Amino acid sequence: MRTCVFFHAHPDDEALLTAGLMARLAAEGNRVVLVVATAGELGRSGLRTRALGPLRLRELEESARILGCARVVPLGYPDSGLDGCAPGGFATRPVEEPAAMLARILAEEDADLLTVYDERGGYGHPDHVQVHRVGVAAARAAGTPVVLEATVDRDRLWRWLRPLAALFPLDGWRQAYTPGSMISHRVDVRRFAAAKRAAMAAHASQGTGGPRLLAVLCRLPGPLFRLALGTEYYVRR
Ligand SMILES: [Zn+2]
Repeated sequence: MRTCVFFHAHPDDEALLTAGLMARLAAEGNRVVLVVATAGELGRSGLRTRALGPLRLRELEESARILGCARVVPLGYPDSGLDGCAPGGFATRPVEEPAAMLARILAEEDADLLTVYDERGGYGHPDHVQVHRVGVAAARAAGTPVVLEATVDRDRLWRWLRPLAALFPLDGWRQAYTPGSMISHRVDVRRFAAAKRAAMAAHASQGTGGPRLLAVLCRLPGPLFRLALGTEYYVRR
């Protein structure tokens, strides 16, 4: 039995990027711990509530329950927002402070594995870039043996997006995530597609307020869902 810590920026990032591996590791008897830097209170949502942060943390708890997590730890930092400008946001903090918090959790759990994001922070959200920096520093401090960057195969993603590029400004996505040649682990999670879909659906606040990626992906028919989301991509550092 191994202990695997998944470090994410906002509630719902775990569902999209790593839910399949989390469900698989938990089903295989490993201890899965989910650490989230912020409550995602600046996420776009059709629900106009000042309590979006607490609501999203409850959604995270439900997602974690579905995936079989043994423990959920919110670090409690403010969401920085997509432009990274929110005062005191996670992305604006010196790396040392959150890295020390995460390193304590890694040591407490005697973690065998930590997941972070690639150094571009996937599509570049400042909080995601910070997850990379903080996670790498924490793993080094705690001596965590295996660090995986959770990412997406950029080449495959671009093959899906290219037909839409004439209609939408998508050029930024060409440099998002990780080139296919650098991916070290392609994890088949099709067996856990139902859990992944349910974890995504648990983040209901993010499926409201206009056409939202999460909601669209949640409604894909089974075969298309497994095709689009049945593989997860990791780079071993
Ligand atoms: Zn995020």
